[in-house]
Amino acid sequence: MPALLDRDVKYLKGVGPKRSELFGKLGIKSVRDLIYHLPRDYTDFSNTVSIAEAVWDEYNAIEAEVVYRERPAMIRRGMTIFKVLVTDGADDMTVIIYNSKFLYESLEIGKSYVFFGKVAGTLTRKEMSSPRILSSSAGDKLQPIYPLTAGLSQNVLRVCLKNALSEITPEETEILPEDVLKECKLMPETAALKAVHFPKTREEAAPARRRLAFDELLVLRLGMIEIREHSRRSTAYSFENSDIAPFLAALPFKLTGAQQRAISECAEDMKQRSPMNRLILGDVGSGKTAVAAACCYIAVKNSAQAVMMAPTEILASQHFEALKSFLEPSGVRVGLLTGSTGKKRKQEICEAAASGDIDVLVGTHALFRDGIEYNRLGLVITDEQHRFGVEQRAKLSGKGNNPHKLVMSATPIPRTLALMIYGELDISVLDELPAGRQKVDTYAVTGKLRERAYAYARKELDNGGQAYVVCPAVEESTSDLKNVADYAAELENGEFRGYRIGVLHGKLASPKKEQVMKKFKDHELDVLVCTTVVEVGVDVPNASVMIVENADRFGLSQLHQLRGRVGRGQRRSFCILITDNVTEESKKRLRVLSSTSSGFEISEADLEIRGPGDFFGSAQHGLPPLKIADLAADKELVKQAQETSEKLKDRLYGPECEILRNRVYKLYESDRAEMS
Ligand code: ADP
Ligand code: MG
Repeated sequence: MPALLDRDVKYLKGVGPKRSELFGKLGIKSVRDLIYHLPRDYTDFSNTVSIAEAVWDEYNAIEAEVVYRERPAMIRRGMTIFKVLVTDGADDMTVIIYNSKFLYESLEIGKSYVFFGKVAGTLTRKEMSSPRILSSSAGDKLQPIYPLTAGLSQNVLRVCLKNALSEITPEETEILPEDVLKECKLMPETAALKAVHFPKTREEAAPARRRLAFDELLVLRLGMIEIREHSRRSTAYSFENSDIAPFLAALPFKLTGAQQRAISECAEDMKQRSPMNRLILGDVGSGKTAVAAACCYIAVKNSAQAVMMAPTEILASQHFEALKSFLEPSGVRVGLLTGSTGKKRKQEICEAAASGDIDVLVGTHALFRDGIEYNRLGLVITDEQHRFGVEQRAKLSGKGNNPHKLVMSATPIPRTLALMIYGELDISVLDELPAGRQKVDTYAVTGKLRERAYAYARKELDNGGQAYVVCPAVEESTSDLKNVADYAAELENGEFRGYRIGVLHGKLASPKKEQVMKKFKDHELDVLVCTTVVEVGVDVPNASVMIVENADRFGLSQLHQLRGRVGRGQRRSFCILITDNVTEESKKRLRVLSSTSSGFEISEADLEIRGPGDFFGSAQHGLPPLKIADLAADKELVKQAQETSEKLKDRLYGPECEILRNRVYKLYESDRAEMS
C-alpha cells in the first residue's frame, strides 16, 4: 500500500477529479507533490493602516467594515464590476472586485475585513482594486501566495494545503537521518513544511525555507553523484601508458605546476577501467590547451583516437593550430573538420578517421554529424561545454565505446557552483598562470577620457602593437549603444584614420569571420572592431590594447574574458573599459576588475552581484530549475549540502534514506530511463 503522501492528490479532502486536473497543470500529482508546492511569498495582513494613512499607489493593508454593496455593473460581455463601500470609522473607501460574484457576496455587511492591495482613486474617494481579503477574525495574519493556474484560487490551494499538512508524519516526510539533522542543525521536515506554508511571522518562515533549500541542493547533488557513479560502472579504454616525456620534450615551454597536476589527474583517470569525466576549470590564459594536448598524446600512445570539439570555427582552427604544433613533433597526426571544410577534404578526413590514419581530430559540431565513424575513439574533449546543450553532451558521450571525457571551461566559476553545475564531473583547477605573464593594466573611465584612450592606443599601434575595440551591438540599434558597423566607420575616419581596421561579429558568415581573424593574427590588420565573438579563446599574442565600449553592458566574467585577449605575449598590455553609466553599482562592478586579475575572484563577485541566473543563463547549464535554493545567496548552504552529500552517498541505499532516495530518483527520472 502506498504511503498516504504518495496517494493521488484527487483523493485528498477538498480536491476531487476536476481540481486534480488543474493541480496536474502545476505539476502536482500526489499529495507529496502538493505539500512541496511552496508559496512564492506571503501577504501580510497584520500591519494595518487607516484609510487616511494609506499610501497612494502602494500596497497597504486596511482593516475596514463593509457598509454597502453596490449593484453589479456589467461593462461588457464577461466583465462585471462589483463595488463595495467600506469604512474604518473615520473614512470611506471603495473596494472594486472584478468578475468574482462569489467574493462579492461573501463580504457581509457590518462585518470587518482586512483588505490588502494598491490604493488609488480620486482625491475625495480612495479605491482599492482586486484586493486580497481576509476576515478580521481569521487567525493567520500572514497568508501564503502560491503559484497558480487558471481555475485555481489562492483560497482553494490554502484549504487543500491545510488538509494535506494536517496528515503528514515524520515517518513519511523526513528525508534525513536523525544524526544528519543534528549535525547540520536543521529543523525537522514536518515542522519546516508547516512553517513555510503557514508561518506566524516572516521570521518563522526563514529557517523553514532554509531547511527545504538544503534538501533541494542535497537532492540535486546526490543526483549528480548518482549519474557520475553510473557512468563509472561502464567500461572504457584504459590507458596504461602515461609516459608523456617525449611530448614534454617537444613542448616549447615548461608546464606550470597547475598544468602538471591537472595532467596527472587526467592520466590517473584514464588508467581506470571506467571512463574519465573531468572538468578542467581554468582561468583565461592558464594553458588549458596544453593540458588537452597531453591527454591526446596519452590516448594516441595507447592506440586510441581523440577528438576535440570547440563551439566556433575560429576556436576550432585555433585549437587545431595549437595541437598540431604541440603534437606533430612527436609524430601525432592531427586533422581539422568544421562546417566549412570542403566536400572533398571532408571525405578524406572521414576516411582517415575511420581507418585510423588520423589520431586527433579537431572541429566543431561537424565532428559529430551523423555518418562520421571513428576507428578507435578513446577520448572526447569539449571546450566551453556550457555552450553545448544537454542533448549534444549526451550525443557526445554516446559515441564510440564509452570514451574518456574531458571538458574545458574558460569561464572560471566558484568551485561550489562548479560542483553544482558540472556536478557529474571531477574537477581539476588551473589557478596558476604561466611564468612571466604580465598583469594587464585595467582602467575604467568615462567617455570624457575616450580621446586619451585612443591616443594611447595609437601609440601602441605605432610601436607595432595591435588593438581590439569591443562594442555591445552589431548593427545600428535604436539605443545609443555603440555598434560595430557604425563605430568601425567612425574610427576609420577619426581616431584610427590611416590604420588598418577589420570588423568581426557573429552575423558575418563563417568563412568571412575566419578570414578577418586570420588577417588580424597575421598582423595585416592593426585594429579589430568586434563584438564579444572574440571573448573566448582567441589567441593573438601581439595584441596589447583592449578597449571596451559600453563596458557596463557586459558581465564581469565576460569582461575578464575579453581582457584575457591581451597580455598573451611579450607586450605590456592595457584594458580600458569605457562607460558613461556611473551608477554606484556599475562603478563597484568595474572596480572589481581593476583590483584583481583572478578569474575565480571575479566570478565570485559576479555571482554575488548578478546572481546565477544571469551569470550563465539557466538554459546554458542544463540544471533542473531550483525552486527554493538560490546558488548565489545560499552559498554556505550549498557548501553544507555538498559536504553532507559526500557523507550520505554511501548510505543512500539503506532503509533510513528511502524517502531521500526516491526524491533523488524523481529528479532524474527521465535520465535514469535513458541510463538503464
Ligand atoms: P587558455 O587556458 O585560456 O585556453 P591557452 O591554452 O590558449 O590558454 O594558453 C594561452 C597561451 O599560453 C598560449 O599561447 C599557450 O601556448 C601558452 N602557454 C600555455 N602553457 C604555458 C606554459 N606552461 N608556459 C608558457 N606558456 C604557456
Ligand atoms: Mg582556450
